[in-house]
Amino acid sequence: MADIQPEAIRNPEVKFTQIFINNEFVNSASGKTFPTFNPTTGEKITDVQEGDKADVDIAVESAKAAFKPGSVWRRMDASRRGKLLWKLADLIERDISYLASLETLDNGKPFQGSVGDILFGINVIRYYAGWADKIQGKTIPVDGDYFCYTRHEPVGICGQIIPWNYPITMFCWKIAPALCAGNVIVVKPAEQTPLTALYLGSLFREAGFPTGVVSIVPGYGPTAGAAISEHPDINKVAFTGSTEIGKVIMAAAAGTNLKRTTLELGGKSPNVIFADSDLDIASAWAHEAVMTNMGQCCIAGSRTFVQEEIYDEFVKRSVEAAKKRSVGDPFDPNTKNGPQIDNEQLGKILELIQSGKDEGATCEIGGARHGDKGYFVEPTVFSNVTDNMRIAREEIFGPVQQLIKFKTLEEVLERANDTAYGLGAAIFTNDLNKALAFANGIKAGTVWVNCYLAVNAQAPFGGFKMSGLGREMGEYGLQQYIEVKNVVVKVPQKNS
Ligand code: ADP
Repeated sequence: MADIQPEAIRNPEVKFTQIFINNEFVNSASGKTFPTFNPTTGEKITDVQEGDKADVDIAVESAKAAFKPGSVWRRMDASRRGKLLWKLADLIERDISYLASLETLDNGKPFQGSVGDILFGINVIRYYAGWADKIQGKTIPVDGDYFCYTRHEPVGICGQIIPWNYPITMFCWKIAPALCAGNVIVVKPAEQTPLTALYLGSLFREAGFPTGVVSIVPGYGPTAGAAISEHPDINKVAFTGSTEIGKVIMAAAAGTNLKRTTLELGGKSPNVIFADSDLDIASAWAHEAVMTNMGQCCIAGSRTFVQEEIYDEFVKRSVEAAKKRSVGDPFDPNTKNGPQIDNEQLGKILELIQSGKDEGATCEIGGARHGDKGYFVEPTVFSNVTDNMRIAREEIFGPVQQLIKFKTLEEVLERANDTAYGLGAAIFTNDLNKALAFANGIKAGTVWVNCYLAVNAQAPFGGFKMSGLGREMGEYGLQQYIEVKNVVVKVPQKNS
């Protein structure tokens, strides 16, 4: 991808603001719209058609028609599904400057971050494009005179609810495995960031996906989102967002048709730094682990455990890194941190920072809003954090680092596991034995050794405990979009 050099467009034109159903852009059934804002300024960008239950119902009807036995989509060669996905990835790549600019406008993340998100999304789509004609069952030597085989069939209509922190990446993580396996989808982008998802709708159409295979319904969670998770004809729901809403989605699935449910939820991930690690490397990763995407990252390393011998030095280095982190205009190539997504998140972060101060942690740097326009927060570092403080237990989703002291591996493992979450975890050490003991003992879906944030299309991503259910990406992610059908054929004995 080295040949791609996307250029930022400061004021990208918003081309699509309507609901995407049946390969057409249409108004909402209710006629209602909702505003989407630029978090850098707090100003409205545009109004978007507001989907709710009626629109989800229409999308589901179009998905049903697309999924009917004998439909174009059901009869399509699996290899052709792969080619359509590959084409989609090419179109996203073609429009990367525009899409990244639109993402930065609507979400506030620095332009290079938007580019990185899109490149990752393209990788995921191409990875699953390759899977399309390699999804195969088994023949099984069962007891008796039977021929037994499994078919790996699509689940059917999949509802996919997307968060605002990585709008395009999360969109690609969801649509690619679903479509490569032959499912049809109804996607709801987050209400804070609907614009890039709608533009992607136009690219599905241009790529040649048959009518009804993909619907994109922007709207709010309790209306459009709930209509998806409660819909009796949706066979699966995939959700990324908060643990609180994850519970609501699972209850809705249980209360209606027991739709298959995958959830990618919150985290309070431990990042454990041993005195024997390379401090330059460890402190740089620890900083990035919690500051990247303004801390709006489910795998943020938001509990940095530092061994006592190096604690003071580590505090110094963390403060230095936070001081250097430039905050401001996300279209400026020198900016590392743009704004938080909205006023609500800004308020939550500032309230948690205040709780850290009130509970006795030392705010070494930052700790306040940056500027008075938009939703910026100063990169913040807390030292003298103890396990029971709210900043050590609750997900902050902001650029706020907690430095916590520890002595031994055994002790830190127990403390690191003392949380309801289990998404990511990392250890920095040059002792292989410590690294392996940590990797075995920690309860988390991903463990990094001497690195952080390394997430790949080919490998599973997801959470233990209240960080989620199921996995995304890799072969494991594909399995969540497949029903296994066992076929048993009686074989006449005389010829065997
Ligand atoms: P956050 O708290 O970070 O905004 P949420 O979990 O509230 O994250 O939102 C993630 C996604 O879930 C968004 O698309 C949002 O609209 C959707 N959502 C919110 N509430 C519900 C709900 N009750 N049912 C279904 N989806 C919802």
